[in-house]
Amino acid sequence: MADDTFMGVKRDKIDWSPTIDYSKCDFCMECDKFCPHHVFERRDDDPKLVVANPHNCVVFCRACAKTCGPDAISFPSKPETIAAIKKIREQEDGQ
Ligand code: SF4
Ligand code: SF4
Repeated sequence: MADDTFMGVKRDKIDWSPTIDYSKCDFCMECDKFCPHHVFERRDDDPKLVVANPHNCVVFCRACAKTCGPDAISFPSKPETIAAIKKIREQEDGQ
């Protein structure tokens, strides 16, 4: 997945993935059951769910947040992420 690009930028340079608010999460695992991209990983210890593969997350997807009853999943700002991607492209074009 690390070789994937989005808007001409390598995926692993783009900061887009879910963040779990552990003060809200009840570890129902609905987000993990829903997402086919192996972004989340279940653990035997605490916390029982982590965002283990953030760069597997599809840029600008927020779908798993809709499965989360306690509203424990958040994402970066889309406009800020677009601006960051454009900046990386400008820097790469200038090299
Ligand atoms: S759906 Fe929400 S509450 Fe359930 S495990 Fe995922 S983050 Fe936690
Ligand atoms: S936002 Fe989409 S791709 Fe990313 S973890 Fe959630 S369901 Fe999977």
